[in-house]
Amino acid sequence: MVAHTIAVHNHTDRILPEPDVFIHTSAGTRIPAHSTILASVSPVLETVIDRPRKHRSSEIIIQIHGVPCQAVAAFVTFVYTSRCTEEQMDKYGVHLLALSHVYNVPQLKQRCTKGLAQRLTVENVVDLLQLARLCDAPDLEVRCMRLLTRHFKAVEDTEGWKFVSNNDPWLELDILRFIDEQEMRKKKCQKHREEQRVYFELSEAMDCLEHICTEGCTEVGPCHVDSTTRKERRKPCSKFDTCHGLQQLIRHFATCEKRMNRGCLRCKRMWQLFRLHAYVCHQTDSCKVPLCRQIQLKMQQEKRKDDSRWKLLAKKVASARVISSLSLPKRKRDEEIKVTVDNNGFTTFELH
Ligand SMILES: [Zn+2]
Ligand SMILES: [Zn+2]
Ligand SMILES: [Zn+2]
Repeated sequence: MVAHTIAVHNHTDRILPEPDVFIHTSAGTRIPAHSTILASVSPVLETVIDRPRKHRSSEIIIQIHGVPCQAVAAFVTFVYTSRCTEEQMDKYGVHLLALSHVYNVPQLKQRCTKGLAQRLTVENVVDLLQLARLCDAPDLEVRCMRLLTRHFKAVEDTEGWKFVSNNDPWLELDILRFIDEQEMRKKKCQKHREEQRVYFELSEAMDCLEHICTEGCTEVGPCHVDSTTRKERRKPCSKFDTCHGLQQLIRHFATCEKRMNRGCLRCKRMWQLFRLHAYVCHQTDSCKVPLCRQIQLKMQQEKRKDDSRWKLLAKKVASARVISSLSLPKRKRDEEIKVTVDNNGFTTFELH
């Protein structure tokens, strides 16, 4: 049965004793090897070698069947040298991964996981996914899943996929579930980015509101600001893109008749901005933003039911502000506020 013997461990510089183990492959090849080296690399081979034999002197035979003879030779070479050529990986990567799993050689498994991941294609991805799962190679499994997700349309036409969808409903389900989860994650990320944008806009609006109510800008602002600043502030705003819109909103709010019976959407929006400002404002008595103090007092007195909702919103706006100040270090910043006059409502405001 045994046709010929091939030596595979002559890559090492070590001077080795006579081989005491022979590995038999399914093609009938005999590969001589050393029990100490095999045992030191693979605990599974160690158990096979230590198994009691009929005659202590008889040579040890290890059968490795089911993979090509050259794959076994590449496996034994790796055991001796910790190396595997790209050519061997091309030809026997899948067999080497299986051998690394069966004989518990983690170093080879790692090498195969990397090597096979580099060789993933639409054609072989389903087969490699199955192998990765059988051989407990999670890194390779994830790489396969990602490629499947990216090129699912093309993978659907492959023989591998057709086989799985006809014969392995659990794997098919796992793959489809993974693709779904990826898509959901993507949507979640988009939603989060969108929310961040809104919170950032709100935080800008808070800054802009303080800027208008403290320094005055273009058409709206406190009456007491001196004439040079007045002149300056007649120019279009150089600090906030949203300043003009917010000024219009403030003017509208101060004069709207519908506001009283809560029917006006613009007023509702302005009211929400005032309310959010009052929530985040720490200047209490010195703040010049209209209604700030009143809203704060009312909130204290009533301990409103929706308090936690506002708290959360204020927190999110504050964190969007932090994120934006980290990502946009040169953002135009508001000047420091040094106003001490108490100012409630619009009585001391110019609105034209
Ligand atoms: Zn402005
Ligand atoms: Zn209104
Ligand atoms: Zn305030």
